[in-house]
Amino acid sequence: MRKKGYFGEFGGQYVPELLMPALYELENAFHDSQKDPQFTKRLQNYYRDYAGRPTPLYFAENLTRHAGGAKIYLKREDLNHTGSHKLNNCLGQVMLARQMGKNRIIAETGAGQHGVATATVCALFQTECHIYMGAQDVERQALNVFRMQVMGAQVIPVSSGSKTLKDAINEAMRDWIANVQHTHYIIGSVVGPHPFPTIVRTFQSVIGKEAKTQFQDQNLPQPDAIVACVGGGSNAMGIFYPFMQSDAKLYGVEAGGFGDRISEHAASISHGEIGVFHGEKSYFIQDAEGQIAPAHSISAGLDYPGVGPEHAFLKASGRAEYVTASDDEAVSAMKLLAQQEGIIPALESAHAVAYAVKLASEMPADKSILINLSGRGDKDVHTLMKTEKERDHDAVAAETF
Ligand SMILES: *Cc1c(COP(=O)(O)O)cnc(C)c1O
Repeated sequence: MRKKGYFGEFGGQYVPELLMPALYELENAFHDSQKDPQFTKRLQNYYRDYAGRPTPLYFAENLTRHAGGAKIYLKREDLNHTGSHKLNNCLGQVMLARQMGKNRIIAETGAGQHGVATATVCALFQTECHIYMGAQDVERQALNVFRMQVMGAQVIPVSSGSKTLKDAINEAMRDWIANVQHTHYIIGSVVGPHPFPTIVRTFQSVIGKEAKTQFQDQNLPQPDAIVACVGGGSNAMGIFYPFMQSDAKLYGVEAGGFGDRISEHAASISHGEIGVFHGEKSYFIQDAEGQIAPAHSISAGLDYPGVGPEHAFLKASGRAEYVTASDDEAVSAMKLLAQQEGIIPALESAHAVAYAVKLASEMPADKSILINLSGRGDKDVHTLMKTEKERDHDAVAAETF
């Protein structure tokens, strides 16, 4: 029998008993919302008038020619307000919080992208907002910290442990336990205890649903392959889910970093092990003692040490395939898309582009690939500048030898 809140053996609710009433309450509120046409209508209005949906489906003709195989299409989530798909989920969850009568929102963030999306919807709904962030990340992501603050959110630096995302997650969990009566915890990806992975997947499914309709409306055959980057896995689940029953091949691209050893990558499915963290059973990057180990990726948004349980299940069932793209491949793909199409993608999304271009070159011209372009690259331009400078420096050094 299929256990509630599980995807095969993955998922579940590994939380202190104190939180169980809040998870039931959330599950009920979510079910009610899905049956309530008013909720759906209001969310659709926010998607259209506030986020700027539907995002375009774009045929990347130059990139297709460059790859020399299957046609490449981009789902332009980079054109969402705040620059990525993250807002789709935050809008839905802040409405759920409202419906439950909770007037305080907490969230945790690594790179600050989810923090910014959360602060955005809290300003929109005039709701108190507390964002937990590792002290080291607060320093590294000063611009995003300021964005959150300017929208009225309070950013709380976490100085325990490695002072990064996993410590912020632990602190957010602690806050939620202490303040659960009037606080909703907006989890930013398809991770965490049930019902979060299902809720986030549902709100992000707008991506795949739109894409499906757009292929139809443009009289195009549905895509033969779909490629998305995987951090926690929300933009990937959002585009995969509506195509689950189709023949499309599904590819999740994890951050391969600069090597296969611990601390060199953020590829939880490809190189991690099964464990329990953040209230769920899934694949995590762990040390020999089973403690969560630091993840590395050049793209801060993929720098999460785990992956959503539904991806672990799709891997086990064989419905989706998981591959990696390295830091260097992502940087090259970021430049490639900029030069071929005049679109600078986020480094996260560039991982999907890198793999999709390889895949396209191996597929015939009458096939097509849909890439989820999860975000825009403005935030990553300084990283690109730095890598270019290092490359020039290395080249000069090599010449002097
Ligand atoms: C946060 C982020 C991701 C990774 O999160 P998922 O839950 O795996 O989608 C990917 N792309 C962008 C642009 C992001 O900001």
